[in-house]
Amino acid sequence: MILHTQLIQQIDALLPQTQCGLCGHRDGCLPYAQSIVAGEAANKCIPGGQPVADELARLLNRPALIAEQSVWPIQTDGRPQRMKAVIREDECIGCTKCISACPVDAIIGSAKVMHSILTDLCTGCELCIPPCPVDCIDLVEDIQIVPAEQQRIAEQDDLRSRYYAHIQREESRRLTRKGPVVRAEIDTQLFAQFSQKDTLLPNIQIPSNTETAVSSIDAKSTIELAKVRSQLKKLEKQLAVRPDPIKQQQLIDLQKQLNNLQGT
Ligand code: SF4
Ligand code: SF4
Ligand code: SF4
Repeated sequence: MILHTQLIQQIDALLPQTQCGLCGHRDGCLPYAQSIVAGEAANKCIPGGQPVADELARLLNRPALIAEQSVWPIQTDGRPQRMKAVIREDECIGCTKCISACPVDAIIGSAKVMHSILTDLCTGCELCIPPCPVDCIDLVEDIQIVPAEQQRIAEQDDLRSRYYAHIQREESRRLTRKGPVVRAEIDTQLFAQFSQKDTLLPNIQIPSNTETAVSSIDAKSTIELAKVRSQLKKLEKQLAVRPDPIKQQQLIDLQKQLNNLQGT
């Protein structure tokens, strides 16, 4: 079990920590690392590109695979072009939704005031773009020099720490229901478990009680219900703007999940 955990950490150390979910793991790099140990192919990290697929193949002693393609051109280090998000600030309505969506807390602003992106921290993960109700976030090419390896590793370590801090804050916000819930579905337990194994990471504490004096099972169901309702609402809004068969199916699945949770 210790070896298993160490291997997950070694894999996670090679992943870019963009937390973008493009590998198919919505909650980011750590769940993908865990799934690789369980047997998933190690060539799915799109921002990592071929260099990360090759490093993972070496670490795992598996055959090298062609990395999944990015839509962006390849940089001099063999990885896809780095991108940055930029808010068209005169159009921002200050709804704060992008703040919750940003896994590395690169957005500053508060309710009803214009928001800005801290360019140095932004990884171009694009996660802030879909929640923005007025579509005022653009993605632009990062024109800075491609970082050398040591600098990239330092950046990754910082992004990992920022993500854990973000999860801790969102977990508290979700339970106290302050502000919009955008990524409440993160598997906080998994990150809490790993945060306890690494002293360099912010320690994630999962609040065990809420002020509402309900049993933990009731609280869990209530949170689950709130998450599903919020996802449903979001999908309904998106479908009202543009029909999409995949989202329509997700809506049906979520509706079923909601019915199950409500026991109807
Ligand atoms: S950076 Fe790579 S491993 Fe991490 S979430 Fe994105 S695609 Fe997955
Ligand atoms: S600002 Fe947007 S694109 Fe940049 S890291 Fe945050 S969520 Fe990702
Ligand atoms: S989601 Fe869009 S409108 Fe809302 S605060 Fe962020 S940038 Fe502004």
